[in-house]
Amino acid sequence: MATDMTNTTSERGFTTAILHSDRASPIEHGALHKPLHLSVAYGYADAHELAAVFQGRQPGYAYGRQGNPTTAALEAKVTAMERGVATVCFSTGMAAIGALLLALTRGGDHVVASRYLFGNTTSLFSTLEAHGTSVTYVDATAAHEVEAAITPATRIVFVETIANPRTQVADLARIGEVCRRRGVLYVVDNTMTSPWLFRPVDCGADLVVNALTKYIGGHGNALGGAVTDTGRYDWTRYPNIIDTYKSAKRELWAIQQIRKKGLRDFGATLAAEQAHHLSVGAETLALRLDRQCANALVLARRLEAHPRVRAVHYPGLDSHPQHTLAKSLFRAAGALFSFELDDTVDPFAFLDRLRLVVLSSNLGDNRTLAIPVAHTIFWEMGPARRASMGIADSLIRVSVGIEDEADLVADFEQALV
Ligand SMILES: *Cc1c(COP(=O)(O)O)cnc(C)c1O
Repeated sequence: MATDMTNTTSERGFTTAILHSDRASPIEHGALHKPLHLSVAYGYADAHELAAVFQGRQPGYAYGRQGNPTTAALEAKVTAMERGVATVCFSTGMAAIGALLLALTRGGDHVVASRYLFGNTTSLFSTLEAHGTSVTYVDATAAHEVEAAITPATRIVFVETIANPRTQVADLARIGEVCRRRGVLYVVDNTMTSPWLFRPVDCGADLVVNALTKYIGGHGNALGGAVTDTGRYDWTRYPNIIDTYKSAKRELWAIQQIRKKGLRDFGATLAAEQAHHLSVGAETLALRLDRQCANALVLARRLEAHPRVRAVHYPGLDSHPQHTLAKSLFRAAGALFSFELDDTVDPFAFLDRLRLVVLSSNLGDNRTLAIPVAHTIFWEMGPARRASMGIADSLIRVSVGIEDEADLVADFEQALV
């Protein structure tokens, strides 16, 4: 399958490589985009070929639930963007995380996870706990907390790059050193930064998760997720690889197990149409995100200077506790910030005064979106858990889009009166 890029392709610049990725293998009629392959099943030259494809001895497709050529073209792009060795795509980011965790952990295992994870990921970890995997939550801005939580049963350390909504930055390089020293699998959810702002492999990540729904797709018109193996982990040391999947090259053992046990058996398959939307979106990732990050910095600075704003949380601000760390790790500080209004401004009334900014839960869209976090996406977890994550009742999260800067500044200023 087209899951790895040739050397010449990976030496090209980030955007060039994405744009010309599909043409690395021949495309029907010389089409510039990999076409939509909607067939669920495939035909073979003869019975021997049929058996060879099903046994993985020959490249090819067995059944649409395990992948299709359009999705494989997207997988090749994600692999190249993350400088990995192979990628499996899923119907959503959550499906990717769920499949990874279920395929690679067993009851009795232990996971060390950041305390500041995406809400649904935290909820997923609580399901895993109900099935016998214990989880210790730590402050991932401090690598020594991660190290102190590791036990002989620890299989995975799971962190995000920049937390949503409070923008805590994980100490990614030092956590990578801890994981390598202790032989623990290091999984980084790179959704908030995307491979344009940060490549987790550079900090020692073994598996990288991306919710393609967000910046990589970018247009808020398709859901998708991906798991990429960076090729760093020695899977012969990992106790949970099933013998069946040890026939492939060593570096592909885990991705094979994730594709079979995670994708094939749970069935959260990325459809070809969605893969196409996400592939087209990925072509402009760098252009969009540069503009989004620039807009975010301008807005964050303006709000921080505003008398009616109590606090702004954005790693690009000098006042952010991990500002220096973020500068050392990321190309830019991301396109998401959150802020708290002072007590004279009712957050709901403020949101109702916004004319351009859309009240919405998504992030990574081209449009700027805002949401009162405690009352919506972090409502279910309750006040105690919110407090432990630093989420005030008045906190507003902003996912910054590509609109013209002056229009965004004007909208926030008129709503703050
Ligand atoms: C949105 C998000 C996910 C889940 O992605 P979906 O495609 O919505 O399932 C996972 N992790 C992070 C950090 C996210 O922001």
